[in-house]
Amino acid sequence: MAYDATNIFARILRGEIPCNKVYEDEHVLAFHDIAQAAPVHVLVIPKGEYVSMDDFTANASPEEITALFSAAGKIARDLGVAETGYRIISNAGEDGHQEVPHFHVHVLGGRPLGPMIKRA
Ligand code: 5GP
Repeated sequence: MAYDATNIFARILRGEIPCNKVYEDEHVLAFHDIAQAAPVHVLVIPKGEYVSMDDFTANASPEEITALFSAAGKIARDLGVAETGYRIISNAGEDGHQEVPHFHVHVLGGRPLGPMIKRA
């Protein structure tokens, strides 16, 4: 799937629309999800143009990949959920119910999150 530079996270990265920033470095931006599904719900995104986890891991540099996952772990520690437990989710494609086609991981926590996935 080709990258669509009009997606909402690309617009956030360009500063065209605001976000509630949690963390930023050379390769990564993290911000609170606009529709919080848990007391802690942060989106961690690469600054590069990647659609999904499989695109990112195939095409990003080792520095970008390290930065993304290091940031997610730091955010879990800094927001206190490393103590209580948390979940990392990355939705991809149609079956994964991905809404925004710019790779991101959700960091969720702050309450018991229930079973991992609804059984069909
Ligand atoms: P996906 O289903 O693609 O994994 O999730 C996309 C997430 O982006 C959703 O949880 C949704 O609430 C969040 N989101 C969509 N638009 C915006 C926005 O403009 N700002 C922020 N902060 N989050 C957004």
